Amino acid sequence: MGRIYVADALRKQGIAVHAEDGWMTRGSSTGFAPRGVALHHTAVRSSDADPYPALEVCRNGRPDLNGPLCHLLVGRRGGIHMIATGRANHAGPIRASGPMPDGDGNSLYVGIEIDYHPDYQEVGLEQRRSALIAAAVILHSLGQRSASYVRGHLEICDPPGRKIDPSNFRTSMDGARRSIQDAMNARGWGY
Ligand SMILES: [Zn+2]
Repeated sequence: MGRIYVADALRKQGIAVHAEDGWMTRGSSTGFAPRGVALHHTAVRSSDADPYPALEVCRNGRPDLNGPLCHLLVGRRGGIHMIATGRANHAGPIRASGPMPDGDGNSLYVGIEIDYHPDYQEVGLEQRRSALIAAAVILHSLGQRSASYVRGHLEICDPPGRKIDPSNFRTSMDGARRSIQDAMNARGWGY
């Protein structure tokens, strides 16, 4: 298994999808066997005028960490940028959480980065909605029927406390999972 292609499925959900050049071949297919979805915030301040300021770093990485750094980036206004279909450096070493095992988070999870800075702003309402629908779409593409396969980076990071994202997310991760399960059930993707 490896690579996820969900752009068309996201468009069918009414989400504005931006396909970044090269996204369909970005990230290695080896060492990538995702079973769940990890949610993150970028800790970059966004606005309606500058809705996805972390796009370039998500695509190309940083001096200390090679890109891609996620699969999908959700902008302030709810648009989604397709960054990569293969392995991305978003999670690092992880502990077990819910039904998901410990191990290599970059192999086990599809990564959704949500572009906002929790010290300065809550996640945007449309932004949050798009992120949760995207999580449902990806779970469906992975053959999962339970939202329990969506975890926050703060829930899986090893050691605990290494990460806090997503924070200022208007809900707990349990609340996010309830919304995702509702979205899956409404589409016939749940139980
Ligand atoms: Zn994170």
